[in-house]
Amino acid sequence: SIKQEKNIKYAFYSEAIRKTLLRENELEARMKSALEAGEFKVFIQPKTATLENNRIAGGEVLVRWVIPGQGMISPGEFIPLFEKNGFIVPLDRFMFESACAWLKDYLDEGGRPIRIAVNVSRLGIFQEDFLDFYADTKSHYGIPDGMLELEFTESLAIEDNALLGRRARELQERGFICSLDDFGAGYSSLNTLKDLPIDVLKLDMMFFRRETDVRRARIIVANIIHLAKELDIRIVAEGVEKPDQVEFLRESACDVIQGFVFERPIPSEEFRELLRKDPTGEWGAGFKKKQV
Ligand code: C2E
Ligand code: MG
Ligand code: MG
Ligand code: MG
Repeated sequence: SIKQEKNIKYAFYSEAIRKTLLRENELEARMKSALEAGEFKVFIQPKTATLENNRIAGGEVLVRWVIPGQGMISPGEFIPLFEKNGFIVPLDRFMFESACAWLKDYLDEGGRPIRIAVNVSRLGIFQEDFLDFYADTKSHYGIPDGMLELEFTESLAIEDNALLGRRARELQERGFICSLDDFGAGYSSLNTLKDLPIDVLKLDMMFFRRETDVRRARIIVANIIHLAKELDIRIVAEGVEKPDQVEFLRESACDVIQGFVFERPIPSEEFRELLRKDPTGEWGAGFKKKQV
């Protein structure tokens, strides 16, 4: 009967909610010790310079949590929780410091200049020592200007573009590149673009989803790229999975591509190995011969 069905549904939902809460409690209970125990790992996804033969231009640092006995869990499962309970702030700082240490090693070894991007939760910009922490860590590791990029996502929960604008300017003065992540994915608007002094716009991957109306998506993407160029903002296309999209983005003069079409996020040691084997960017050129 309908009534029975309703009860089953209700039971199903409450069971799901109960499980989610249990999982959240479990993750919350172990997050601090996990940070100390080194369970948060630095993965990096390569970004390629579209107009320079798809040469590796740098990469984005992405966190992975490896729980002993449970394997790897992805940010989607714990970042929203950490944004709720505030733990995202120490985690972001840990990821940033790890990125600086990685970059220092890489440069000490004679690696060519690249740019490493790290995500920063909007919660972070409210901390009083925000600028000091990021700028001091950068100079502690002796990272040259222009090699560190900070990616900020727009969120509905925290709307303070005036503050983000001030932070961005302070960061730029200290040699950071500032980018707006997930542009076009809901919370971000053209108005934000008008007011924020950002260097880079990351086009959200929803523009490149398979099931999308390709013709309409391409018109929009091409015009956002054009708009950004006029504003002197660089463009990164995120979530690119197909070779014909790479071709289209090259024709549209999109600066940088990040997506599974080139590489997934890989452990930082593996990324270093990739760069070691590819000092001049032949890897990207090889991709073009292979797939396009
Ligand atoms: P994001 O900053 O927009 O990062 C890009 C996400 O897109 C990554 O997911 C990446 O694996 C995924 N991606 C890249 N190319 C493709 C593609 O071609 N196809 C598909 N399907 N996906 C692609 P990931 O690593 O799961 O991270 C999800 C989100 O979690 C990130 O989105 C970011 O908002 C957040 N995040 C990850 N690491 C950190 C961190 O250290 N701090 C903060 N605050 N947030 C983080
Ligand atoms: Mg990002
Ligand atoms: Mg993004
Ligand atoms: Mg995102």
